[in-house]
Amino acid sequence: MKKALKVLAILTLGIAVLILTTTSGDAQLIEGQRIPGFPHLSLQAQEVTDSSLTLSSACALKPVSKASKSRPVVAAVQTPVPLNRFRQEPNLVDQSKETSAKSALAYTPIEEVALAHPTNFGRRFVQDFYGKLANNEAIVVLHETVGSAQSTIDLFQTPHPNDNDQVSYHTLITTDGTIVYLVPPDRRAFGAGNSIFVSDTGQEAIQTNPDFPPSVNNFSYHISLVTPPDGRNDATRHSGYTRAQYQSLAWLVAKTGMPESRITTHRAVDRSRQRIDPRSFDGEYFLRLLSFYPKTQEISTQCSTPAVLEE
Ligand SMILES: [Zn+2]
Repeated sequence: MKKALKVLAILTLGIAVLILTTTSGDAQLIEGQRIPGFPHLSLQAQEVTDSSLTLSSACALKPVSKASKSRPVVAAVQTPVPLNRFRQEPNLVDQSKETSAKSALAYTPIEEVALAHPTNFGRRFVQDFYGKLANNEAIVVLHETVGSAQSTIDLFQTPHPNDNDQVSYHTLITTDGTIVYLVPPDRRAFGAGNSIFVSDTGQEAIQTNPDFPPSVNNFSYHISLVTPPDGRNDATRHSGYTRAQYQSLAWLVAKTGMPESRITTHRAVDRSRQRIDPRSFDGEYFLRLLSFYPKTQEISTQCSTPAVLEE
């Protein structure tokens, strides 16, 4: 018996040494390194070799220069993508006394999934283009589509290999209040190029591409309200959004758990002097509605590590 145990111990040790040797020789892994301000993250990265990673929540380590590495071929995304890739079920969320009281507010919008083409969104980066840590707290950025819901979805589902054409929001809200999920929340939607968020800590923006100005996209959750028909133009105002849109917006934003101080508009963060959306937006009404909904973490913008070595 003792001999058998000894043999087993030697065998186990041998296997452990074999595994260690194999892993340390693996060029796909970068030595783990703790990231200050991101205690749950460590600087480890893996190559995307498996198509299951295409829609994974993994962060990207840092942007790579286009000259040294082209964007990898995007694997086809299997459809349909389940709703819980965009919003987790509330049973995973801590329900305090306050939230259960507020849950009495019965409003349930219709939710749909219309995944954007993968060329129109990317991974959130752990570092900016220059290797500086990109650990901003998330913000919510509000927009309006200007075009119809269908034309907006069609635009986002069209492949755009050219960087200049890539565009997306995470979510849009139609005039009847339907919520349409386009980009998973832990991924980077391309909603506000050339943008800066001004907060208590100063000016926040991340440069992820040396050819474009810094933007808030790396830490934003972009939500767009579908514009009413009389607003499909460049006028400064239109007739505004429906009550259902405001209610769905409040319902949705509450699920990001975002503090009011980090909810903003495209107009406020834009630095191109070309964006004034969402026009005719009643911010007071929205915030009053928002106060009725329990804040949860059903929608998380936090990408996961190990990060992938791409983008
Ligand atoms: Zn916008």
